[in-house]
Amino acid sequence: MTAPLLFRHEASLEHDTGAHPERGERIVAIEAALEARDWLGYELREAPRAAEQRLLAVHPQAHVEAVREHARQRHPFDVDTPVSPGSWEAALRAAGGACALVEELLAGRAPTGFCALRPPGHHAEARRAMGFCLFANVSIAARHALDSLGAEHVLVLDWDVHHGNGTNAIFHSSPEVLFASIHQWPFYPGTGALSDAGSGAGEGFTINLPVPAGSGADDWLGLLEHVVEPAARAFSPDLVLISAGFDAHRADPLGGCLLDTETFGRLARRVRALADGLGAPVGAVLEGGYDLDALAASVVATMEGLVDGGDDTPGVAPSPLVAAAAEQVGRFWPDVRAGAAG
Ligand SMILES: [Zn+2]
Repeated sequence: MTAPLLFRHEASLEHDTGAHPERGERIVAIEAALEARDWLGYELREAPRAAEQRLLAVHPQAHVEAVREHARQRHPFDVDTPVSPGSWEAALRAAGGACALVEELLAGRAPTGFCALRPPGHHAEARRAMGFCLFANVSIAARHALDSLGAEHVLVLDWDVHHGNGTNAIFHSSPEVLFASIHQWPFYPGTGALSDAGSGAGEGFTINLPVPAGSGADDWLGLLEHVVEPAARAFSPDLVLISAGFDAHRADPLGGCLLDTETFGRLARRVRALADGLGAPVGAVLEGGYDLDALAASVVATMEGLVDGGDDTPGVAPSPLVAAAAEQVGRFWPDVRAGAAG
């Protein structure tokens, strides 16, 4: 059996954001926790730089040049999104690691993997850096899987506490990517209403699952079990990518939700079991998570869950919130409605 893969790179520490929650110490904390556990059996890989054509499959040339120039000049994109000269290399490695991960997964050379790189990516839109994000790492990797690696359907599950507006926008009209996001709402960045299900040929292929502040494990696990999983089975992806943010942890200083460290392990085990049932590999890419201890422990729990798969704990009864979400999503995915009712 080949080993699961962990993509990392020193360049992640050179994206200097100053006094900012999204900082290099996040990676230091994650790697210290993993090293203390002998990396959980994961094989370490240095993340390569993303090839320019990979970036250009999602972002226009002007955006790629803007990231390079803003970094060189230390010119922030907005008050949330500062950059430094090291940000360019870090951004290339963050996108490149995600691409390398999907290459290994789809070639069958690894059972699963995790990218512990920064900056994160799910807020970056095709033409806009924002929300701590420069390039849309997961979207770039999904596009790569579709364009070059033989995948026809990619499921992106975003469990970061913030809505992944970038991924949402990039694949809004595409039926090739099923984008499912569980996020606190109303909250930054303001997008991600339940009623936003995609557009055009992509109508139904965006599943936005907003939860109120104070939501906890039963809400997140219930939405995964009763909404995301039946839709994913009907979609039948060739690849599953997790936009793995850890700011829904109860200790997080930015998020307002109440997940525990073990919840992330349960989410990961369920997603691995789902992917196994579909014959698709699953990989995770780091997004947010700003309490260093909670972040590091939750990454460990997630990486363990991705290897283990399954979830031997009882399923969660659908709450009114889950039932309402299933009603909406069931308009496009009939199995969802049936599942929640049963
Ligand atoms: Zn976030």
